[in-house]
Amino acid sequence: MSSEGDRTLIDGVSVSPHHFINGKRVASDRSFEVRSPLDWNMKLADVSRGDREIADRAVAASVDGFRQWSSMAIGKRVDVLLRLADLIDQNAADIATVECLDMAMLLGSLKARLVPRGALNFRNYAELAAAHEERCWSSRGTRNRIIRDPAGPAVVITPWNAPFMLATWKLAPALAAGNSVILKPAEWAPLSASLLADLVNDAGFPPGAFNVVQGLGHEIGAALVSDSRVRRISFTGSPETARLIGQAAARNIVPFTAELGGKGPLIVFADADIDAAARKAAAQFEDSGQVCLAGTRLLVESSVRDAFLERFVDHTGRHVRGDSREPDTTLSPAIHPEHLERVEGFVERAKRNGDRIVFGGQRTDPDKLWYEPTLIEPRSNDSEIVQKEIFGPVLTIQSFESEDEASELANSTRYGLSAIVYTSSEQRAARLGRAVRAGTVWVNTFLVRDLTAPFGGYGISGIGREGGDYALEFHSDLKTLQILEGTVS
Ligand code: NAD
Repeated sequence: MSSEGDRTLIDGVSVSPHHFINGKRVASDRSFEVRSPLDWNMKLADVSRGDREIADRAVAASVDGFRQWSSMAIGKRVDVLLRLADLIDQNAADIATVECLDMAMLLGSLKARLVPRGALNFRNYAELAAAHEERCWSSRGTRNRIIRDPAGPAVVITPWNAPFMLATWKLAPALAAGNSVILKPAEWAPLSASLLADLVNDAGFPPGAFNVVQGLGHEIGAALVSDSRVRRISFTGSPETARLIGQAAARNIVPFTAELGGKGPLIVFADADIDAAARKAAAQFEDSGQVCLAGTRLLVESSVRDAFLERFVDHTGRHVRGDSREPDTTLSPAIHPEHLERVEGFVERAKRNGDRIVFGGQRTDPDKLWYEPTLIEPRSNDSEIVQKEIFGPVLTIQSFESEDEASELANSTRYGLSAIVYTSSEQRAARLGRAVRAGTVWVNTFLVRDLTAPFGGYGISGIGREGGDYALEFHSDLKTLQILEGTVS
């Protein structure tokens, strides 16, 4: 880390460690330290630690910003969103470099997939907003028109995994709907959000329409979500935090969406391409298993369990642990020592519970943040290791005898974010697609998304749906205008 005026140089990229409010950088007196999981001795930045006063300033700016942004002609708003998408593309290499150092995600997938998806999120929502047509019809002697009104300032709170892509996924619909936004990224990976703020003025947003504040969840996060001027809250993170945000939202009667954790099943039927299923199962160890959508419960039809396991061990053995910036690396470290301890805690409790460690089950090195890819055969389906999200490179394996048993096991946790099914039978795919209670069910694939489709979770995996028009409606107040026929000309 080196200083460049008020900014910090991270691997040659200049990053502001401060808030971005009303189109300007604002510093706090207090700061928090951000280190790189690639090398915990590498300090990246001292980032401004926002408090209630900063939250108040950001919300005040967003109220003014909302007036200007929401009254701008839709064509102009669309141009600004498209310009932001272009600026993200132009700055993609810098964003990927900083995000890789900040949270250890593989540089290759950041460049190929996640940062371009950030730009795509803005393009997609610019197109959807431009294409929107108000529904009009006549009934009972009146002309009806449904008007989608921007709701007001929206607070967007994001987690530390894939922070850039996830922030853009939530910001794009809020802005496309005409709302102003305040983004509060996670304190463990806050830096790519600051690079996004650098692009806001050049894209053409009016001051206050797009704000970014930094700080700790229980400080500035809690202050933002309890401010009564905020009209929408869009949250991604853990169920524990969602409960707190839900209480604050309820006090102000503010709608909120929550995209929360997962404990997805990866179900392998005997009729499937077993090698493809095993390869995809081994891929769940990537990004240190810190993927909400991951299929972490392997459910395998008994007759192919041994064949699957052999292929799975083989594919897992091909992983390369290394620096996330190197092209051959496929296994990255955990985000933070505290998170690694949490993962260790789950596995140690599983051992004490009598769950069987099939492979892995420990850290690779006391001075580094890697955890071995780990497979556990639980003593019972009630074991904590099966029922709770670990968010680490730890999978469980269970067998089933019938399709009914597979769906029953799939639906046996309180989560319901995603599921992956491997089968060659179209009828089975259709049946499982209905029987499994999850927001997204993939058959013979994983992570492929159409951005116009709804996205969210059943059970404790979330409230509400994002994606496509679903997110635009969430960020709008819907109004019915009725005019008595023949009374106006
Ligand atoms: P977290 O809930 O600890 O934190 C998420 C965000 O909430 C952070 O920005 C944090 O600062 C903020 N926060 C914390 N306390 C707050 C409070 N009282 N008021 C307001 N904001 C507060 O989650 P995390 O550990 O950063 O992220 C991991 C979790 O996110 C996992 O459960 C994972 O499955 C989930 N996740 C879900 C999705 C999805 O799309 N469903 C995507 C990514 C991650």
